[in-house]
Amino acid sequence: MAVVNESWMESGACRGPASNLFYAPSLGERREVRHERENKAKSICQTQCPVRQNCLSYAITNRELFGIWGGLNESERKGLIGM
Ligand code: SF4
Repeated sequence: MAVVNESWMESGACRGPASNLFYAPSLGERREVRHERENKAKSICQTQCPVRQNCLSYAITNRELFGIWGGLNESERKGLIGM
């Protein structure tokens, strides 16, 4: 069985107080609120995160269905892999 190294997660810029930006609240949110939240999260991925490529690869490999990973939301990841 292959050993999966997920140690990169320890270096993600989404850890800490900003972590709530990366997933929709369980009660849902209006489109414009979602757009604003996602843009803030993507900005963190794009400007502050040293493990963005690891994160995006992981999300695509594991078909993560929810949240911002590697600077992309669910729809953008699906588009990337042609789903
Ligand atoms: S790329 Fe974004 S979601 Fe992935 S670890 Fe970095 S900050 Fe978190």
